[in-house]
Amino acid sequence: MINNQNCPAAFSDMPLTPHVIRAIDEIGYTKPTNIQASAIPLLLEGRDLIGRSCTGSGKTGAFAIPAIEGVDGSSHHAQVLVLSPTRELAMQIYVEMKKFSKYKEGVSLAVVYGGSAMNDQIKQLRHANIVIGTPGRLMDHMRRKTLKLDRIQTVVLDEADEMLNMGFIDDIETILTATPDERQTVLFSATMSAPLLKISNTFLTDPLTVETLA
Ligand code: AMP
Repeated sequence: MINNQNCPAAFSDMPLTPHVIRAIDEIGYTKPTNIQASAIPLLLEGRDLIGRSCTGSGKTGAFAIPAIEGVDGSSHHAQVLVLSPTRELAMQIYVEMKKFSKYKEGVSLAVVYGGSAMNDQIKQLRHANIVIGTPGRLMDHMRRKTLKLDRIQTVVLDEADEMLNMGFIDDIETILTATPDERQTVLFSATMSAPLLKISNTFLTDPLTVETLA
């Protein structure tokens, strides 16, 4: 378990590139939240991570900022995959990631969820290097071969407990199994249950846990 004592007090103390720092400044964040200060340096090092954290803690920035730093903008295949339980959360993550990546060249995002036109999603997926989606619709695109996961570097399971409550466990396992074994895997959840621990034991490698539930 990581505590917050030795964590960077400012975004400028983190090894972030100037275009990401510029975007953070423009958004107006003056300093990292606790979960951001703990998680961002570890994720930039490539560690797998379990974040015990609720909405409102700044968890989106905690996984989005290092994920964007890791994207190779010259390459338009899916490199980052974010799984969300709901379309609303998927949209929120998309909007935040778009802002954080505003000044980084070559970053292209796709957001896919049920109830929205397939064709628009397919167009976005053709050049997206960051893909955000709900498990069911991501599975649809995998079956249609409009989403390929063989070059994914980082997978984020956001609100993983909610995804399990909604019955997505098989889809999550199928999606994770279709990504490269050497990927970075990040799991955010407000609560930990036995099925979630099983996912963590199966799909995360030597993960660190950061907890900011207060
Ligand atoms: P989240 O927990 O990711 O849903 O974020 C909750 C809210 O906190 C959102 O409105 C964010 O824009 C905001 N937020 C995230 N990180 C920071 C930060 N470092 N400074 C100020 N506000 C932030």
